[in-house]
Amino acid sequence: MTDTTDATNGGELDTADIVRWLVTAAASIDREADRLTDLDSPIGDADHGSNMRRGFAAATAALEEEPPSTPGAALMLAGRRLVSTVGGASGPLYGTLLRRAGKALGEAERVSRQQLAEALSAAVDAVGQLGGAAAGEKTMLDALLPAVAALSGAETSPYEAARRAADEGALATVPMVATKGRASYLGQRSAGHQDPGATSSALLISALADSVAGGSAE
Ligand code: ADP
Ligand code: MG
Repeated sequence: MTDTTDATNGGELDTADIVRWLVTAAASIDREADRLTDLDSPIGDADHGSNMRRGFAAATAALEEEPPSTPGAALMLAGRRLVSTVGGASGPLYGTLLRRAGKALGEAERVSRQQLAEALSAAVDAVGQLGGAAAGEKTMLDALLPAVAALSGAETSPYEAARRAADEGALATVPMVATKGRASYLGQRSAGHQDPGATSSALLISALADSVAGGSAE
């Protein structure tokens, strides 16, 4: 039995599944870093790809150096490392996302999809509180909010539904006018560009779908 098959058994995820998610996310961010930076160029300061690459490389290095024993501990370690390595807005925001999700999972050795969805939902709320943003302000929340709603609400293939919702959410930021973060300095001129943070969030959710039974779980 492979880990991948185990993930489909009852839909529960263990520490190895969560670590695989974070490693898959880091690889995807590394591949897409130039695109993330290009997106951050017209409406930001052209550093989102390098910020995310540095943060996720450090997070996965930490997971190798100090192997966590629970899903929650894996997320908290990765989140702490993101905060300490990324200076931009995205470091504390993604750090909060992962740390808060990890905290919500507590000491459990295996977590159900519903528990993960609830933990991520609490984590996304914490990101909203930290950054003072809500849906529709052209931020990472525009990918994360629909993704967590799909993950807990979809009746079939919730991970695939979350992936689709995040991708659509990122695309939906194109016409939005930014009212939070650096892009808000541009006012109306921020419209017509896809938000880099919503794009990296869609990569994270896509990595989750990929790492849970190769994207075909449930
Ligand atoms: P910086 O803006 O400091 O250069 P990054 O370029 O790494 O940091 O990240 C920019 C992304 O962070 C934006 O595309 C947006 O999605 C997200 N972001 C910025 N401010 C906020 C906020 N207040 N709430 C939620 N997300 C935000
Ligand atoms: Mg930037």
